[in-house]
Amino acid sequence: MTERIVIVGAGVAGATAAKTLRSSGYDGEVVLLSAERSLPYRRPMVSKELLAGTAVERRTLLEIAEFWPERGIELRTGVTVESIDADRAVVRMLYGGEIGYDALLLATGARPRALPGVRHGLPVLRGRDDIEALRRAIDGGSLLIAGAGLIGCEVAATAAKLGARVTVLHAGVTPLDRIAPPIIGEYIRKLHADNGVDIHGEVLLAEVEQIGNAVRATSTDGREWRAGAALVAIGAVADTAVAETAGVKVDDGILVDEAYRTSVPGIFAAGDAAARFDSGLNAYVREEHWNSAQAQGAAAAQSMLGLPPTPAGVCWGWSTQYGITVQFAGRIRLDDDLEVWGTPGTPDITVRAMRDGCLRGVVSVGRPAEFRAVRDELAAQS
Ligand SMILES: Cc1cc2nc3c(=O)[nH]c(=O)nc-3n(C[C@H](O)[C@H](O)[C@H](O)COP(=O)(O)OP(=O)(O)OC[C@H]3O[C@@H](n4cnc5c(N)ncnc54)[C@H](O)[C@@H]3O)c2cc1C
Repeated sequence: MTERIVIVGAGVAGATAAKTLRSSGYDGEVVLLSAERSLPYRRPMVSKELLAGTAVERRTLLEIAEFWPERGIELRTGVTVESIDADRAVVRMLYGGEIGYDALLLATGARPRALPGVRHGLPVLRGRDDIEALRRAIDGGSLLIAGAGLIGCEVAATAAKLGARVTVLHAGVTPLDRIAPPIIGEYIRKLHADNGVDIHGEVLLAEVEQIGNAVRATSTDGREWRAGAALVAIGAVADTAVAETAGVKVDDGILVDEAYRTSVPGIFAAGDAAARFDSGLNAYVREEHWNSAQAQGAAAAQSMLGLPPTPAGVCWGWSTQYGITVQFAGRIRLDDDLEVWGTPGTPDITVRAMRDGCLRGVVSVGRPAEFRAVRDELAAQS
């Protein structure tokens, strides 16, 4: 019988798993361990309202403090798991102590990718604890951002609103190129330019150095940019450190089957940390979006209880910059055939990506009802 379930990581995947265990009728112990000091919160707000300083605290939290004890969920914040002894079925804490488990969920999320070739650690943004230093660094000054993905673009928009002069350097041709085709990326570049932010594409950074109170970035073709501070936002890598101590198989993420089981019996994984086997694609797929992490946390909890997990569904997410929301679902490739509805270059456009006669993905700006309809169409065919 499963008497104690331990969850490592209280992001949306871990927290949703804990809630789902209770809502599914599980009455054993649930221990939810979080390295962060905050109560479980809405990470997408970090680069938006929390960095801007406009967030209402209650709205940042997944649940109020009382929720967890009332549900019989033992939430321990500021506690880092150092390793797992899978033979003895215990997790060991960084500052001593261990907890036994009957089943274990790894929901350790992801951490920012480091910029190759840079000698000194540069600021990154992943959680609440990173905000204050970044806000101090950009306060009224200038900021260089490496990366024009979701986080780079969102921080650029927030920092510009806070009065900073912002420059974004991007290896790809257009911003948001992992989720949006160039026709949308060009609009995003224009949106930033209209707000005083320059996004330079096709910049391969050779070095970013701290020189006195300034930062100097040099590209491989010899161009140079200077600013008061820099932020590295070039994507994230799955946090597999603890999983590896248990001997769990990892590649680009903790490898799990369609029921979120890792290669070690009794250990499951979900969220940004996990790469789940997709039998349709015959490949492991790792998502990095809020809704996927939430859905995976719920499905993994059901699987831990021996219930059939709900199917993964369509991967989708959103990004908000200067009050404009970009929504995306499915997977778009550069060689897809695009169907454009609305007006290119404006916040009123939907792009449907077709491949081999099938709908593969959608990106939409300012057309939420249409986005939902196309996302449902994608879900219906998966
Ligand atoms: C700044 C930012 C903005 C974002 N904006 C959007 C958005 O607008 N839309 C969208 O769809 N997605 C967005 N995302 C992505 C989304 O937030 C993530 O996909 C989601 O939060 C992943 O949830 P998770 O629970 O898998 O991992 P996480 O939220 O990363 O949580 C993992 C937790 O595990 C903890 N942990 C790790 N190792 C240990 C350990 N050894 N011991 C104890 N605890 C541990 C970590 O400290 C962390 O608290 C954003 C992400 C960031 C960083």
